[in-house]
Amino acid sequence: MQAAVFPQAVKQWPSPIARLSELAANLWFSWNHEALALFAEIDAVKWAASGHNPVRLLQDLDESQIVALSNNTEFTERYRRVMDTFDSYLNGKTWFQDKYADRSYVQIAYFSAEFGFHESLPIYSGGLGILAGDHTKSASDLGIPLIGIGLLYKKGYFTQKIDASGGQQSELYPYDFTKLPIQPVIQNGEQLTVSIAMPGRAIALQIWQIQVGRNRVYLLDADHASNQPADKELTAQLYGGNQDTRIAQEMVLGIGGVKTLRALGVYPNVYHINEGHAAFLTLERLKELLQLGLPFHSAVETVRSATVFTTHTPVPAGHDTFSIEMVEHYLGPYLQELSRHKQQIVTLGLDHHTGQFNMTHLAMNTAGMRNGVSKLHGQVSREMFKEFHGHIDASEVPIGSITNGVHMDTWTAPQWKELFDRFLPGTWREEQANKHQWQQIEVIPDESIWSVHQQLKEDLIRFARQNLLEQRKRNGESEERIQEVRKYLNPKALTIGFARRFATYKRANMIFNDLYRLKKLMNDPDRPVQFIFAGKAHPADYPGQELIRDIYRVSQMKEFAGKIVILENYDMNMARYLVQGVDVWLNNPRRPLEASGTSGQKAAMNGVLNFSVLDGWWEEGYNGTNGWAIGSTGAADWAAQEKENTQAIYHILEKEIIPLYYNQGALPHQWISRMKRSIQSLSPVYNTHRMVQDYTEEAYLPTAERARLFVVNHYDVATKVADYKQFIRNNWYHVKIIGIDDRSAKLSTEVPLAEMKPTTKEITAQVHFGPIWPQDTAVEVVYYEEHAGDWKQKIVSMEPSGELTDQLQSFKATIPGHLVHGPHFSIRVRPISANFAHSFELSLVTSTLSWQ
Ligand SMILES: *Cc1c(COP(=O)(O)O)cnc(C)c1O
Repeated sequence: MQAAVFPQAVKQWPSPIARLSELAANLWFSWNHEALALFAEIDAVKWAASGHNPVRLLQDLDESQIVALSNNTEFTERYRRVMDTFDSYLNGKTWFQDKYADRSYVQIAYFSAEFGFHESLPIYSGGLGILAGDHTKSASDLGIPLIGIGLLYKKGYFTQKIDASGGQQSELYPYDFTKLPIQPVIQNGEQLTVSIAMPGRAIALQIWQIQVGRNRVYLLDADHASNQPADKELTAQLYGGNQDTRIAQEMVLGIGGVKTLRALGVYPNVYHINEGHAAFLTLERLKELLQLGLPFHSAVETVRSATVFTTHTPVPAGHDTFSIEMVEHYLGPYLQELSRHKQQIVTLGLDHHTGQFNMTHLAMNTAGMRNGVSKLHGQVSREMFKEFHGHIDASEVPIGSITNGVHMDTWTAPQWKELFDRFLPGTWREEQANKHQWQQIEVIPDESIWSVHQQLKEDLIRFARQNLLEQRKRNGESEERIQEVRKYLNPKALTIGFARRFATYKRANMIFNDLYRLKKLMNDPDRPVQFIFAGKAHPADYPGQELIRDIYRVSQMKEFAGKIVILENYDMNMARYLVQGVDVWLNNPRRPLEASGTSGQKAAMNGVLNFSVLDGWWEEGYNGTNGWAIGSTGAADWAAQEKENTQAIYHILEKEIIPLYYNQGALPHQWISRMKRSIQSLSPVYNTHRMVQDYTEEAYLPTAERARLFVVNHYDVATKVADYKQFIRNNWYHVKIIGIDDRSAKLSTEVPLAEMKPTTKEITAQVHFGPIWPQDTAVEVVYYEEHAGDWKQKIVSMEPSGELTDQLQSFKATIPGHLVHGPHFSIRVRPISANFAHSFELSLVTSTLSWQ
């Protein structure tokens, strides 16, 4: 096989700048502005031509340029400063080392189908990937021992062009991996490969690595010489191809990913499945354990103890599903050695309603910890997956939530960082999740804030004009049409940004529902308003592409020319310009379909005000003074919701946003004060440092500890848990609640509720357990209490009283005096264990009421 070419192998670097290629090979450069500026300074033209890719930049330099650089003391001085910062970053003490010095055994493997680190590494399509990239970066900053596993897409995600009729053209180019900030993993002088079984053949996967600060991400690539031509294409495109490509890709990621870890000698105690795509990793782990001779249920418990699953999709239709036949076909050869367990394995992913194999079901059934990505999305997920846990209230479904954030150093403009350096405590970066220090924003002079903001807006407008210019040139438009974009967009006008994937639920063209009203509000000569749109629609998403066409059509109308524009090829580079340069960030998805959303968080960090439907993160982020909320909390029917939201958008623009923005003398002080409130309240919360700290403390540490416990003494605890569950399942039918003494029942039916005093009373119940130990259960009273119009479930545990006789045990509890069994409260029994990850691991609940 062909040896990969490293940048350092191409040229001999003179010693004063010998480590430039090392810097280029670590994605740390992507969030360090001095490093980025250093590369830009080497050769601005080649830097731009490389797509901000330092590896390519260095390869493209002439010998003479390299010699000149090494003799340029001003440059070598800057280089040395950057390298010092780099070295102290890599060797410095971290949050994790500091706080969890005793947890050196923790090892996390984070699996994701996409990672968005930087525009120079095109292995992401949108929010999910950027979240994974930001997660990895913060893990590095905080010293969290995390290894990423992903796929290396030969052709990445498509490049978008918009033609002269607003149509989206998608183009794919094969990347030259030797020119990306990635390197082959070399073992015994060759690139490491792993192999996975597919119907009728094995596929070889070659392994690459990227260095993300302190942490590594391994990428799998099917474009190996020994594979059949069709198999080489398996990892060609992100979210490309049909269902067959999809399932094969997911096998590469999950199964190949675990094999890669093993080939590297890595045995993590936490496996994080970032969205269902990666859930096959649990099958490979099951297989390993079954081949060791573990019984099936003990193997499942072992896998579950070490798995964390994050779901990102609030609609059932958005989850990855495959037909059972397809799963049996693709996994057939893989499962051959485990044919005894084939049915059990397939059942782990079976959705009983649709008869399909559902990757989210597989993840739900094999992950001890699960979470959604905002508080609201956690709630939606608990409703959606309620059936996994029997008859319990949705609020008790064991799916938590950890709200997404963004990587502050990546997304905040250098000019803002300079202000923070000057006015915030020196620890603002490391302790960005500390609310207290952000109060200091108050002392930054309004002039400084406005001048930074205005500068970033001008940068954006320049960038946007250039993008439009290239669009029109390429589309062969008239010279007049090409030149007129130089006057497009007014740096003094209130500028509203809308950029994200053009999925239909995001309703990108909603603002056009009443063009007449829009025209009026935009075209007041004293108070002009303009809009910048951008985003890609998936090539198979025709309704999404219609949205682009529609925005383009409106942008060409005489009254909107130069005031509504749509830019092409939204990527991380453009995203930075937009979230740093507009005044207002508009977001109007159908609620509750935006699980979190993150672009608004990027905007908030840069003093851009959010104007958004109360969905995803904004429902918890909005506090009444740090931006604007659109509409009510959401009508159930889509048409009604859209009508309501549209009215709200125009109304708030006309009555609040535009007047506030234009209420300025020399400076719009009230607007700036809102910017300050936005940064103060949102920056400390919606960053990935806070998020990854939450993942560490709520999910990774407890998971690592359980995983360790489960495997000691030949999987002793895993086996005990499995046996215990089996025993409880087999005998649960014995459990019956037979006698309830509800002493004041008569009284409370006679006295009207309103007249009753808040007294308490004692109730008793008898439970028949059969062979089950009462200690292995919890007996509880369940009732509902009204809180501000909402009925909240209340749980009171019942204490045993007296002796266990004839498998019967009495329990008692004290509850509010007016409650009557039946109409007001019920009693339930559920199995418990100290080794369960959560209270409803077994979906067995015996209750005195069936309506629950
Ligand atoms: C942040 C980002 C996204 C995600 O934005 P949402 O508002 O969450 O949809 C998508 N694409 C790019 C390029 C981004 O930078």
